[in-house]
Amino acid sequence: MIDKKIWDDIVLYLVSKEVINEVAYQIWFKDLDIEFENSNVKITFPNSLTKEKFCSGYADIIKKTLYDFNKEEINFEFFVKDENKKNIEELKNKELNPNVETKKNKKEEKIIKPNYNEITNFNQINYLNPRYTFENFVIGKNNQFCAAAALRVAQAPGQHMNPLFIYGGVGLGKTHILQAIANYIIANQSNLKILYMHVEQFIDEFIYSLKNEQMNSFRMKFRHADILLLDDVQYLEQKDASMEMFFHTFNSLYQAQKQMVFTCDKPPKDLKDFEERVRNRMEWGLTVQITPPDYETRVAILQKMCEYEKRKVDEKILHFIAKNVKSSIRELESALIKVIAYCDIFKIDINTLGLEQAKEILKDQFKYIDETKIIQIDDIIRKVAETFKVSTYDIKSKKRNASISRARNVAMYLCRELTSASTTEIGLSFGGKDHTTIIHACKKISDLMKDDELLRISIEGMIKDLTS
Ligand code: ADP
Ligand code: MG
Repeated sequence: MIDKKIWDDIVLYLVSKEVINEVAYQIWFKDLDIEFENSNVKITFPNSLTKEKFCSGYADIIKKTLYDFNKEEINFEFFVKDENKKNIEELKNKELNPNVETKKNKKEEKIIKPNYNEITNFNQINYLNPRYTFENFVIGKNNQFCAAAALRVAQAPGQHMNPLFIYGGVGLGKTHILQAIANYIIANQSNLKILYMHVEQFIDEFIYSLKNEQMNSFRMKFRHADILLLDDVQYLEQKDASMEMFFHTFNSLYQAQKQMVFTCDKPPKDLKDFEERVRNRMEWGLTVQITPPDYETRVAILQKMCEYEKRKVDEKILHFIAKNVKSSIRELESALIKVIAYCDIFKIDINTLGLEQAKEILKDQFKYIDETKIIQIDDIIRKVAETFKVSTYDIKSKKRNASISRARNVAMYLCRELTSASTTEIGLSFGGKDHTTIIHACKKISDLMKDDELLRISIEGMIKDLTS
């Protein structure tokens, strides 16, 4: 039996694990036309492109996660709105122009084209998570300076601190605070034109415009923005042409005193593969860091989340989660969502859920429960990234570059060795990799360690650091 509540829990859980990214969630999942009937899930998509995207990217992982939770198989049935109408039109077109091959059209259909029809197409509310507001952002010692600077920028964009550069580790609230600026401005001064985007979208649009000779439109789009909010700028590393474009965009917005805010996983000085002049520009304004939250802030974040989700969860459970998850707020949320999802699936009244039951539900989430040292997947990823001098994002990505693959395999191996998470759980934490990928990685590393002395020493060193 699956219903809307369980579906929402599973999707939220996958968002918290970053298997479904925020933008994908806002675009593909938020307004799905979906019906549930026992184990059948019927989804009607607005067009075949969204259907294809859903089938190739998410259907399997949702099935598998649900199975992991309650050993239930679900069946999908997919429909496309107006499919018949579309097919008839296609047939008609073919009849009229029998020589026109649809291959080209098909290829183009897969690329999400930037919308240049209206250069005033700003404030893309679609991409913003309505939960990411200042009100929902819990302030602690770890982020108070950053939150104050962000609020100041939202209240008076372009006037102080330009650019505002926010950096910190994975899952600490950078995207939340960046979108809070956009949500605040939209709520208060909607005449300002905001461009919020992940830097990969910037790169994609740039490449698309270059290929399709639309560079003017691309430039216009940015030149007309009042505020540019760019998430995860570390992805610009080694993208020379995009970096050049970024440099010019920066200059023109800066000269026009338009506000820019960037987030990044490291401080500007550590952006080693950035051109010197671009790195310099990043430091012109104010640089603020977000660090991991302390215990009290972690509890407050969990309470805030329960409030938002309108669930009452025993304080003891919240304290237990806060005690065990230290490094990433995303992991913190993910533990809470897991508890909520279990209660929904097994029809347990969450109000009455006791600590012992919660521990049982979360037993795969942490190892060494109730012991002082608990090793989390994110701690391992961070340690391996540091050792191999790659970014944590790279480790979770699909990049196949040799040094990144090696680091990723080692991280997967260490997760198997040092946590009690299942291979499926580990896969989810690595951006939705299949459990067989984890098994292969572990075998590969243990084989390599037999011959490669340096690798073995390095892995043993990491194990020592992580467990001491
Ligand atoms: P990052 O971009 O740094 O990887 P996110 O902004 O995606 O991290 O945050 C991960 C999750 O943690 C989000 O769901 C976000 O709402 C939540 N979160 C982070 N910091 C806070 C905070 N201070 N208060 C409430 N929720 C937070
Ligand atoms: Mg982020």
